[in-house]
Amino acid sequence: MMNMNDKEKSEFEEKVRKTIEDFHLIEKGDKVLVACSGGKDSTTCLYLLKKFGYNVEGLTIDLLIGQWSKENLDNLKIFCDKEGIKLHTISIRDEFGYSICYIRSIIQSKHDLSNCTICGVIKRWLLNKKAREIGATKIATGHNLDDEAETVLMNISTGNVMLGLRLGPKTGILHSEKFIPRIKPMYYLTNAEIRAYSEAMNFPVLYDPCPCAVDSFRHLVRRHLKTLEAEKPGTKRQIVDTFLEMIPIVKDYYKPGKGVKICELCGEPSSKNICKTCNLIQLLRS
Ligand code: SF4
Ligand code: ZN
Repeated sequence: MMNMNDKEKSEFEEKVRKTIEDFHLIEKGDKVLVACSGGKDSTTCLYLLKKFGYNVEGLTIDLLIGQWSKENLDNLKIFCDKEGIKLHTISIRDEFGYSICYIRSIIQSKHDLSNCTICGVIKRWLLNKKAREIGATKIATGHNLDDEAETVLMNISTGNVMLGLRLGPKTGILHSEKFIPRIKPMYYLTNAEIRAYSEAMNFPVLYDPCPCAVDSFRHLVRRHLKTLEAEKPGTKRQIVDTFLEMIPIVKDYYKPGKGVKICELCGEPSSKNICKTCNLIQLLRS
């Protein structure tokens, strides 16, 4: 892992600032809510938005994944206290009555969905709801270049181009007060760069992956991308840039009214008014 000196830290920060400016991610008057997991990506994102002077608050969802969730929550509280950032915490148990692990086991007994698919939908749904309550105008996530390149390849490999609608530094095809636009300020930073910055800054974060992240297909794609990047540096960036050029076409093709609907509950593309996953969540809540 590389060590960062002060000059490299500034260059890193400038890359994030440039992404925000180039893609007009944050406008004057915006209140940005950062979705915090306690990990390096969202913690760095929160830190830099605050450092750049934006009106920013953090939100974390306690998923109750044993010691891992507890340590992340403790770390976030320490970090936000130190930086003077307001942190909102919601517990999955207060919202649904159970831990994410229990929710997943119920849903998976009825439907073949991966851990992260279920967890992701639930988190997006809760985030959007909470952001609206708080009066946030943007939701920022810590997604980085590696995440995005992996997702592009995964979607293409599984024929799931519609999910490309969630990609790009600024997402949301709905112009509705119900859905808060999402932004990804860390879009052009790699996993390795963010780790180096986070370590150099001594952020209190866990570098272990979530114990429930057992998406074997993502891991396979990640391994192959790593090999490609080593053989041909710049591959990840090229994948993302190529997809960015295609996004307007994909968004136009799949825009609501052209056979694709938007789930009324989570805002994800769906063939019905309520998507499959939200149907399952509704089952769980009833
Ligand atoms: Fe949820 Fe997967 Fe993230 Fe773990 S890695 S918190 S299971 S989405
Ligand atoms: Zn849905």
